[in-house]
Amino acid sequence: MGQPVLLSLLVLLAVAQGVVLAYWAIRDRRFRSAHRAARHLHSADTHAGRLALVGEIAGSIAHEISQPLSAILTNADAAENLLGEPDPPLDEIRRMLADIRRDDLRANDIVRHLHSLLKRRELQTTMLDLNEVAATALSLIQPVARKRLVTVRSCLDPMLPPVRGDAIHLEQVLLNLMMNAMDAMASNTANGAAERILDVTTDRYDKYSAAITVTDTGPGIAAAYRPRIFDSFFSTKQEGMGLGLAIARTIVHAHGGKIWQEGTSAGGAAFKFTIPLQAA
Ligand code: ADP
Repeated sequence: MGQPVLLSLLVLLAVAQGVVLAYWAIRDRRFRSAHRAARHLHSADTHAGRLALVGEIAGSIAHEISQPLSAILTNADAAENLLGEPDPPLDEIRRMLADIRRDDLRANDIVRHLHSLLKRRELQTTMLDLNEVAATALSLIQPVARKRLVTVRSCLDPMLPPVRGDAIHLEQVLLNLMMNAMDAMASNTANGAAERILDVTTDRYDKYSAAITVTDTGPGIAAAYRPRIFDSFFSTKQEGMGLGLAIARTIVHAHGGKIWQEGTSAGGAAFKFTIPLQAA
């Protein structure tokens, strides 16, 4: 091979290598920015969904908070009056102060949870008791359930091993599922309030994970909709955003768990999700 030919071949090779490198650089950048955009979207979606959910729950919870607040006021007024007496009953005043402290903690707890649901945050996993997550979500949903004449029942496995997860995000998954269950039962009026039953159970799913199941006595999910319910922006509700289940799935998958829907023998819907055990 002559020297000029060898030189041209080397130049060609260098150009080709440059093109390939440039291609990969662009591809990589595109991939990374698409990935970033997707992550941002997920986090923005999660935040938007959380805001809508919190908005819905906040109305009922405002009522819940006003109870301990007015109890605090009544006790403070009464204690002040007693202190004005010539021989104040100190034990009674002490009891009143204890009641004030308890009511304040209750109100504070509700506000703290709402606040953490409102904040946009990344996943922060710790060792968790799923029963505690369920109990918190159940207490947040109670006022809404009362208003909607839904009976809430829970069966939490006391032997459940700890999982690794983000309590706030998992609470959100549960709240989304419970709100959906209540929406589904809204038309159960013909059968009366007793027919609106929301069951929440926790149990060991397999060697590696624990599960939470939310079951309702609504009409269930039409076969035609089943493949689409977890899609973003799929909703059969007039005012639905179609983000609840998509967000729930994003969160559960981020934990390494799975979420799916099952029918119930009574014709309602059951949603189950698993979260890996801490020790798995
Ligand atoms: P949205 O609640 O805004 O509609 P979701 O993503 O939470 O959004 O739910 C998507 C759809 O899945 C709902 O519109 C409804 O058709 C269906 N769905 C979810 N949960 C239930 C349920 N428990 N019973 C019946 N249908 C349900």
